[in-house]
Amino acid sequence: MFAIQPFETDETIREPDWQELARCNDGTGSMTELFFSEQLDDIAAAKAFCVECPVRETCLEQARERREPWGVWGGELFVNGKIVAQKRKRGRPPKIRPEVEVPQAQSA
Ligand code: SF4
Repeated sequence: MFAIQPFETDETIREPDWQELARCNDGTGSMTELFFSEQLDDIAAAKAFCVECPVRETCLEQARERREPWGVWGGELFVNGKIVAQKRKRGRPPKIRPEVEVPQAQSA
């Protein structure tokens, strides 16, 4: 009689790194420009994209620890290692804010 043998492998099963679960990680780097853009509408879109990311809190926490010099991380905008509410353009702010288009995650 054959007994069922457990499947043996040299590889250990590991938990995925949080970066692998990142919504912005499509394996192509296609979202880099959006997350490091200077354009207010891009920054707003990147922040909105982060809202549904399953690792948003970890991303934000680690960006704070690293004092990220710039870019959108964890749904927040970093400038010189600090979170800022809004990047300011030179001159007067627009009276009407542009609508934000949230990009959709691409499946790998
Ligand atoms: S929170 Fe935003 S920047 Fe951080 S991993 Fe998720 S999608 Fe990317």
